[in-house]
Amino acid sequence: MNSKNSRAKDTSELAPTLARRLVELRERKNLTVKDLAQESRFTKERIEDLESGLETWLSSTDRQLLARALAVDPVIIQEVEARPRLEPSDDPERYNAILADLSDSILKGVKESECPQCGNTLRCRVQVGLDIDGNQVHFAKAFCQKCPFVLT
Ligand SMILES: [Zn+2]
Repeated sequence: MNSKNSRAKDTSELAPTLARRLVELRERKNLTVKDLAQESRFTKERIEDLESGLETWLSSTDRQLLARALAVDPVIIQEVEARPRLEPSDDPERYNAILADLSDSILKGVKESECPQCGNTLRCRVQVGLDIDGNQVHFAKAFCQKCPFVLT
């Protein structure tokens, strides 16, 4: 959990969980739950769920809305989100579809993506190899920075 990136300085004083961090950020702006709900266009109940730890992660659209309402970089919220891990055995079809999508975007030149298992930064690259007939083939590879997820 000790992220030593350039943003560490700004967030080192903030709570390490999404629930507590949201409360802190909201109080720092002197907003009530109701104020924040209005600013972010979330329901008051949803803010309460987030602040009590019932909801542990946000979609990127929701994260942006909330970050804007709290006047912080969305990364400040994202770095303490706890995404439920998507296990291949939970829903193999969906899992494979996600991997196919990921593979596709990597082959189209995406260098960084979001880890399907934990939501953290995924480093991506294209590896060039040869198939049995000697034709050049491109493989998508990805490694998560935080969890054991790999795409090979
Ligand atoms: Zn991951």
